Order: sequence, then C-alpha cells, then structure tokens
Amino acid sequence: MVWQEHIGALHVHSRYSDGSGTVEEILRAARQAGLDHVVLTDHDSLAAAREGWGGERSGVRLMVGVEITPRGQAHVLALRVDHCEGYAARHNARALDEVVAQGGYALVAHPLGKNKPLLGIRQPPWYNWSHPAIRGLELWSYTHDWVDGVAWWRLPEAYSFWRHPESKVRGPYPGVLSMWDEMGRSRRLAGWGGVDCHAKPVPLTGWKVFGYERMFRFLRNHLFIEETEYRRDPDAAIWSALAEGRGFLAHDALADSTGARCGCLFDDGRLLQMGEEAPFAHGAVMTLSLPEEGEIRWLQDGRCRLCARGRALHGEPAGPGVYRFEVLRRGRPWLFTNPFYLR
Ligand SMILES: [Zn+2]
Ligand SMILES: [Zn+2]
Repeated sequence: MVWQEHIGALHVHSRYSDGSGTVEEILRAARQAGLDHVVLTDHDSLAAAREGWGGERSGVRLMVGVEITPRGQAHVLALRVDHCEGYAARHNARALDEVVAQGGYALVAHPLGKNKPLLGIRQPPWYNWSHPAIRGLELWSYTHDWVDGVAWWRLPEAYSFWRHPESKVRGPYPGVLSMWDEMGRSRRLAGWGGVDCHAKPVPLTGWKVFGYERMFRFLRNHLFIEETEYRRDPDAAIWSALAEGRGFLAHDALADSTGARCGCLFDDGRLLQMGEEAPFAHGAVMTLSLPEEGEIRWLQDGRCRLCARGRALHGEPAGPGVYRFEVLRRGRPWLFTNPFYLR
C-alpha cells in the first residue's frame, strides 16, 4: 500500500452562511496556504455543492459538508451528505438519524459548547455521543476556543492573541482530550482540528478574525490516504479518512509538520494506521517521526508512558489500550495524532 499525505482545513464558513468570503476567495486562500483540500461547512446550507463548487480547482479540492446549527442545541458537522433541508428545525437526534439514512456521518463541533450572552452565543455541550452518526469530534476548535478566551475586560490580551496566536494558543482543551481518551476505551472516535473560520471583519479596523489564508496556515489536518483509493474516488477517500481518523492534526504555524509519519508495526509485518483498531499482540512497535524536533509524548489511555525531546519516538505497548502521540514545540501545542486502538 502506498499512503499519501493530504493536508486540509476543516470547518470553514463562506458567504453561503455567515462567512465573509466567496468560495472562490476561500479556494484562492487555500492554494496560497498550500492546502490540498478545504471542508466547507456552512450553517444549514449545502448551496456550494448545489451550485457546482465541489471537486478540484487548480490543485485544491472543495469538500462540501454542513454545520447543523439548531437554535438552543449543540452543533455538528454533517459530512458526506447531499441534503439538509429542515434539519436545523429538528431535534439533533432526528436530524442525525437522517444523516445516517443518506449514508453520511457527523463530527461534533466545539463539543463543550459555549455561553457568551454578550455575543449572543448560547450553545450547550454535546451529549448524544452514542448516536451512530457520530464518528468523531473537533478536538481543537481554533476560533471557537479563541472567542471563548475573549472577555471585554481582557481586550488587550485578545488583541495580542490575534496578532501572535502562534505564541499564545493553548491547544485542545484538556477536558476535551481526557473525554476523548476515555471514550476511546469503548469505541473509535476520530479527533480533528476545526478552524471554524468565518473571516469576520472587525469594524473600523480593516482586520479580520481570522483571515482565511492566515487560518489555513495555523491548524491543519494531515490525512493519510491510500493512493489507488484516492485515484478511484477522491471525495470518498477524503470522507472516509476523516471518518476513520486516519491522520493527525497539527498547529503548522509553529513549524510545518508535513512529512511526519506515525504507525504501529506488528511482529508479522502488519502496519496499523492511525485511527485503526486491532487485537493487542506482544512485540508491536509504535513510531512517530517528525520533520523537526519536538517534545514528544506517547500516551496510553491518556497517561504519558514515554516522553523525549527529538525527531522520533518508539513505544512498545505492554497491554491493550488507546495509544496516541502528542508533540509540543517550545512548550506550545504542535501535533496530535489519532489513536491506535489495541483491544
Ligand atoms: Zn458552530
Ligand atoms: Zn462553525
């Protein structure tokens, strides 16, 4: 099997809902930032697909999903779907039943929700994890987490974050990471970075929070897709890699993580890809190698088993568990792999 790395941004809004950019502008920004694909998820709209924007243009593939945004309920990104009419007016569970019925699936957006009455935002945390549509979550929701840190009495802090986010971001919320580790003990759940990019202009300043191109350089998902699978049907291959968690998310503003590799090699020569599940067997070795040095941690069920500074780390699992790698660079969050599930 020949695995190829595909870099993309997940959770992007255009003028089809409340984003400031046209699809054309978004594709141009993606091209400038060096992305292979963008997953557009406008609020309750698949208009971009209906109007023929899906597919590849000058090297960037537009994938069209939808963020189901019912009033007073938590948000989900519904992917691999063709229609979403009326979903926002329904109970989440009913809408998700229909997502499954049309062959789609969902990733939970900003799973802890948010309560910012001054900004008019009231979203409860996600609760319905057992629904069969749910295949993963936004482990790190960039803009959402940034807005969460903004308080009017802390505006200077918010401004400095906006100017130099790469030196300020804290990475995925520890509560989301521990919830993910815990749920992984009973089921696979893909974890990705979501930019939740709207590129909203700040009145009277000429600034945007955050512009598309800038955002597309910050937080990226690196998917691993088998070459022939991609050649046969690129859209299906990307949807499937996102559903299965085949890859890692990286804060590429710190350092470009392209070229990082991660796998679990068994004694008999079998190679497990990130996000995959297999029975535990003695003699397996998990490896992460990086294009640049980092502080690497190898975790089992959320507990650190090994850590070292360098460009590679190997771990030998001693028993069943959910194993994954995290990497910091100068104390800042850089790279989070999807887990290997050894049962
Ligand atoms: Zn949302
Ligand atoms: Zn959103």
